[in-house]
Amino acid sequence: MAEQKPDIREVLRHFYGIEVRERGGWQKILCPLHPEENPSASVSIEKQRWSCFVCDVREDGYDVIRRELGIGFREAREFAHERFSGGGTGVLRAVRGESGRGVHERPRFGTGGNPIRGGIRRFGSNRA
Ligand SMILES: [Zn+2]
Repeated sequence: MAEQKPDIREVLRHFYGIEVRERGGWQKILCPLHPEENPSASVSIEKQRWSCFVCDVREDGYDVIRRELGIGFREAREFAHERFSGGGTGVLRAVRGESGRGVHERPRFGTGGNPIRGGIRRFGSNRA
């Protein structure tokens, strides 16, 4: 069963905005995982891998997806299929949304309150 990996170029473009040229051999790229000005990472389209010797990382498309999204292999496959190689549906499913923020309920003040009694008493007017 031939399994097609998500194209490393697509993956790098999707997650890091890196444009990899269509050519053979290893190409130097700026590592997306550590700040640098001179490329120390490289990517190979033939091998469908990228690596950075500074970060000591060697990954294929699946590895990137799993690491970036923090998901398992099965989910990564699903994601890759939908996002990168699934022809046509174009449905982007959020794999992991923002963690839901709980709505804080304020404690309520003055429940019941002080009932105001009607009738004003005058002082001093009605002594017996
Ligand atoms: Zn690096």
